[in-house]
Amino acid sequence: MNMTRIAVSMFLVLHLAACQQQSESPASPGAGAPPESSALPADEGWLQHGRTPAEQRYSTLADITADNVGDLGLAWYFDYPTHRGLEATPLVRDGVIYSTGSWSMAYAHAAASGELLWMYDPQVPRDWAVHLCCDVVNRGVALHGDRVIFGTLDGRLLALANDSGKLLWETRTTDSNLPYSITGAPRLIGDKIIIGNGGAELGVRGYVSAYSVDKGELLWRFYTVPGNPADPPESPAMAMALKTWKGGEWWKYGGGGTVWDSMAYDAELNLLYIGVGNGAPWNREIRSPGGGDNLFLSSIVALNPDDGSRVWHYQTTPGDSWDYTATQHMILAELEIDGRSRKVIMQAPKNGFFYVLDRSNGELISAEAYNTVTWATHIDRKTGRPVEVEGARYETEMTGLAFPGPIGAHNWHPMSFSPDTGLVYIPAQDVPWIYAQDRNFEFLPGYWNTGTDNVPAMLPDNPEEKQMVLDAVAGHISAWDPVAQKERWRVTHAGPWNGGMLSTAGNLVFQGNASGEFVAYRADTGEHLWGFDAQTGIVAPPISFRYQGDQYIAVLAGWGGALPLVGGEALSSTSQPNRSRLLVFKLGGEEKLPPVVEPEYYFDPPPLTASAEDVAAGKQLYARFCLVCHGDGAVSNHVTPDLRRASRETHDIWLAIVVGGMHWQQGMVGFAEVLSPAQATLIQQYVIDRSHFATAQ
Ligand code: CA
Repeated sequence: MNMTRIAVSMFLVLHLAACQQQSESPASPGAGAPPESSALPADEGWLQHGRTPAEQRYSTLADITADNVGDLGLAWYFDYPTHRGLEATPLVRDGVIYSTGSWSMAYAHAAASGELLWMYDPQVPRDWAVHLCCDVVNRGVALHGDRVIFGTLDGRLLALANDSGKLLWETRTTDSNLPYSITGAPRLIGDKIIIGNGGAELGVRGYVSAYSVDKGELLWRFYTVPGNPADPPESPAMAMALKTWKGGEWWKYGGGGTVWDSMAYDAELNLLYIGVGNGAPWNREIRSPGGGDNLFLSSIVALNPDDGSRVWHYQTTPGDSWDYTATQHMILAELEIDGRSRKVIMQAPKNGFFYVLDRSNGELISAEAYNTVTWATHIDRKTGRPVEVEGARYETEMTGLAFPGPIGAHNWHPMSFSPDTGLVYIPAQDVPWIYAQDRNFEFLPGYWNTGTDNVPAMLPDNPEEKQMVLDAVAGHISAWDPVAQKERWRVTHAGPWNGGMLSTAGNLVFQGNASGEFVAYRADTGEHLWGFDAQTGIVAPPISFRYQGDQYIAVLAGWGGALPLVGGEALSSTSQPNRSRLLVFKLGGEEKLPPVVEPEYYFDPPPLTASAEDVAAGKQLYARFCLVCHGDGAVSNHVTPDLRRASRETHDIWLAIVVGGMHWQQGMVGFAEVLSPAQATLIQQYVIDRSHFATAQ
């Protein structure tokens, strides 16, 4: 361990001690003592990621109802020592909440008092952040017996002892020379841990693996896209997929198809469902210029969990060219359709269509647009394929404002299905994009490789054109009837990138939003019943559990993830600063959050000396290397520093930061591999230009 790491750890210990004091309540047991264990019924806790392997995210608890939710109050809160995105689903068993936060750190709290029982920092190298598309997030742990299992940003899978947080084993699931990452939660099937990974845009080949719970040994691996055709295919599925990739050298770019979030499991059918991501690069013209569906990109694939073999697949976006992942949340349910009871799997992937499939064989039952869609007119029921609009693939000309964009009509934020109302609650959004070919594409392993020119998609300076785009950016809850394929009610939000959903047997739906309110709605009508000011944007999904007679609602509050990083001004009217905290509510809860101290912001740019051509060249470089973390137009949304507000002192050491990497400990690596000092200076001039543009507004 080097000195820097020790210093960081000491800071965390001190900070955590301070945070703990803040949130301690008189009811806390003695320091470090585990809470009393009791054998509770399964539905009292929240034992698995989607509560059950069907991933409905519906709680059967009904102590908190539409009639009494007005009495809901904060029971306790805990401030995490980090200030980046929080996306985890906390799990609750026997009075302990297990969760993860930024940089793949894990935490265990006493559920009733909030006391921190342990925390574990897997020491992810902070400069690994350059290999992440979408913030330093983690979506949670899996629990098996005395083990707490989770993945890390740098591709490791860890098992900790649930009572002490001590490391039991650690295994590497990815090649550390490649820009893989893990942000998704592991799932458990018997004694097998199933884990995928992310990193498509950075240049990797997707796969999902099974490991043993006891030792972390690899049991099987399923690749989602073919490798180099000169090598023998790893499985019959890969031999089948290879025929759908034509021309090009996709294996040099990895090909993508990462399984970075969604899974579900049907024990009766013994099928594991995985959601597969987009192509790498996004643009099929570069990846597979001869065309083809490029299996199994943007597909739901059903696997036999005993050996990882493919049973069936359904591709939502054949030949993906738009970053239309099918990694979005999948829900299993029994629905009455045309007088028959059907075992279905449901998904609202990025591409804007809501799919209902027969989960025994992958047959399409129905698909309709759940949001604004411009790339395809509809899904053909006979072929199961989208009917694309001419020009959607931007092969010869860039698109107009295209819906959805790469952020998706719905992203990873979990939906919820209530068997009481029969509705699926979708955290939906409109975030358009202009797709354009990158005529000078050069593959740079480990960096952002989309094969699209991002400059046309950036917000224009012209006020009217800009307003037109800003007006198109929106977010809402869609209460979707999956049988009729119709929206039953809608709650319109101030903007996109709102939290995941929870429904309960108390006729309630809970969701936090980008504007910082945590809300309870009536599940059948969408009526706003109760709200809480979380002082920060919320993107994570809530959960519910019962302990010692009280029903609780818990959610991780904290702003971050893909859109807050890249969104720029399109998001800044609703985005809230990141205050990373675990909030736990119960009826009659009386805890209060501390008052907010607003930081001071100001602009103090050096004079702009560069020519318009140099600023434009800087913009092009910014779009390729900086946009994905520092935002469209160098406008940040409180997750990474707003470069327009860089001080004169920071500008004096610009090259030491951008090329030399002096801030690597905060995740800002040096770009010496891909940027010359002259190019870094062009980017600086673009940032100075943006700063002057902001002060002139
Ligand atoms: Ca992607």
